[in-house]
Amino acid sequence: MVCRNICERLYSKIIVGRSSYALGRKYCRRCEVYFCHDGVSCPCCGMALRMSPASKKDKERLRQIQLRREEEQDRIIRIIKRTK
Ligand SMILES: [Zn+2]
Ligand SMILES: [Zn+2]
Repeated sequence: MVCRNICERLYSKIIVGRSSYALGRKYCRRCEVYFCHDGVSCPCCGMALRMSPASKKDKERLRQIQLRREEEQDRIIRIIKRTK
């Protein structure tokens, strides 16, 4: 469970493709780098990765949209029930 410097290679690759870097990046506290990695643990040291604040904000926004949509559906259902 130590940094094997794999992160450095991955990190430099991520910098080249900035658009994918912005999506779902995760932070490793041990390696102190951001990864665009699918797993829950660091591919370099195996430590659990932390989601970036940006993706957390996206999640919150998604939740808000979903909540609003549910309210909207509720309203529509009530209108339909009333007209019948
Ligand atoms: Zn590392
Ligand atoms: Zn790491």
